Amino acid sequence: MESSERYDLLIVGGGINGAGIARDAAGRGLKVLLVEQNDLASGTSSSSTKLIHGGLRYLEYFEFRLVAESLAERETLLRIAPHIVWPLEFVLPHESHLRPAWMIRAGLFLYDHLGPGILNFGNTSSLPKSKSVRLTPDGYGAGLKPEFARGFLYYDCWVDDARLVVLNARSAAAHGATILTRTRLVSAQRAGDVWIATLDGEPGGRREVRSSAMVNAAGPWVRQVLDEALNIKLSSTVRLVRGSHIVVPRIHEEHHAFILQNPDRRVIFLIPYERQFTLVGTTDVPIPRDEYRTRISREEIAYLCEAASRYTAMPINPGMVVWSYSGVRPLYDDGSENPSAVTRDYHLLLDAASATGGAPVLSVFGGKITTYRRLAEHAMEKLYGRSPSNAAWTHREPLPGGNLDGRSFRGLLLDYRRRFPRLPKVWLARLLRRHGALAEDIIGDAHEEHGLGRNFGGGLYERELEYLVKNEWAREAEDVLWRRTKCGLHMSAEEKAGVRDWLAARA
Ligand SMILES: Cc1cc2nc3c(=O)[nH]c(=O)nc-3n(C[C@H](O)[C@H](O)[C@H](O)COP(=O)(O)OP(=O)(O)OC[C@H]3O[C@@H](n4cnc5c(N)ncnc54)[C@H](O)[C@@H]3O)c2cc1C
Repeated sequence: MESSERYDLLIVGGGINGAGIARDAAGRGLKVLLVEQNDLASGTSSSSTKLIHGGLRYLEYFEFRLVAESLAERETLLRIAPHIVWPLEFVLPHESHLRPAWMIRAGLFLYDHLGPGILNFGNTSSLPKSKSVRLTPDGYGAGLKPEFARGFLYYDCWVDDARLVVLNARSAAAHGATILTRTRLVSAQRAGDVWIATLDGEPGGRREVRSSAMVNAAGPWVRQVLDEALNIKLSSTVRLVRGSHIVVPRIHEEHHAFILQNPDRRVIFLIPYERQFTLVGTTDVPIPRDEYRTRISREEIAYLCEAASRYTAMPINPGMVVWSYSGVRPLYDDGSENPSAVTRDYHLLLDAASATGGAPVLSVFGGKITTYRRLAEHAMEKLYGRSPSNAAWTHREPLPGGNLDGRSFRGLLLDYRRRFPRLPKVWLARLLRRHGALAEDIIGDAHEEHGLGRNFGGGLYERELEYLVKNEWAREAEDVLWRRTKCGLHMSAEEKAGVRDWLAARA
């Protein structure tokens, strides 16, 4: 085995935290290698509720630092990724026996004013402030039982979580990082101020690389990487908590989402999803430390249907579920008994040997999609210190496709509709939501549908498939159908098989 390849930073894990750190580090001039054992975002980072949010409910657990940082990040991400992040209205139907109105008003007041520097009374958010609303069947009450007459309205943002990961990886690569998917860190040993790491994956099977520093961003596997691959015993530990979602036919035609209170004091979300559907989630189920991959249980489906049906005009039952997904939250163990109460804040841990000159390893515990960019900045500071030559930069540069040349997303859409009047309208909107200003690289010279190549169904054409393979590390059908796009939701089994066969033939 050769060990000639030498990097400044080896990052283990191609979820949002690994990809975000790779982008930040590569942009600061470091020679970066990121290894992901499967596909980018194949762990927790494609299974979230897909909100860029402060987390209204975290206020009940006094997580003011986390909420303030998250709300500030909401603004930054809206700015650097306007194609995959957009504002969403949330309606909270009022039920006085669950939480009194004064408590909700106080929470929303804080939510409107938390941000950089914690409390702000200037205009730090581009989103409208919260307010009380009447819930009418043709307005904010659409989809609800008529007995819910009053509620509250506030704003957060939606994100395509899996694409956020891929765009960070693309940006990292554009800044010189090497991204290897289907490549696992098997083990690593410290040799003084360098790590010698054994990787397993294509091309060429097992090989060794050297790196001056390492980041363990393995999400639910963070402890496994420390224990088994690095042979490091840390006292801090991770709590694995499964969260599941179901997708059902759309429950109303308006644009708003619901945040619904449950008698167990948890909240669940009902969010318009992929035009025809409503996303319902999530659950909090503690799982054993070695159960990294997981599926929704029958009890969780029943829980979500029941919680939603307490509010919806039309009951939601398990027979209506068209798709479901589950993810594992790798939470930092703060000793809370209730899995819903465990902190959602992140912790970055440098192991002790780093302090005495040994090659450092930084491990990421916990975190949110929302805070990944700040987490990456903190990781850089912890590893390399603060200095003008090591300055933060990722808040300035748009993610790939996010530079709309001063246009709003709607402006971009209208522009494309004008330039490509004969391309399918809904498809064009979806393509722009996936690729933003880079959509042009896919459309090329196609002015009619047939110019886009084979139509695989579900809004996927050969030109985009080629592009995803060439530019976004897509290799298998799952990568394309459920992560680079959500076309899988709109396809028949035969259509999905068509994508699988095409990819196999190309490989
Ligand atoms: C149900 C649910 C809902 C959520 N909703 C939200 C939300 O709405 N908003 C929000 O901000 N956050 C949300 N979160 C939190 C957020 O999704 C996670 O905090 C985040 O995705 C964690 O990212 P990660 O990069 O740390 O982990 P992952 O995404 O799991 O990435 C870790 C990667 O490491 C790889 N890996 C592991 N071991 C190795 C190895 N030895 N070699 C190479 N690669 C390896 C894995 O394959 C994996 O891809 C939610 C989480 C869940 C579960």
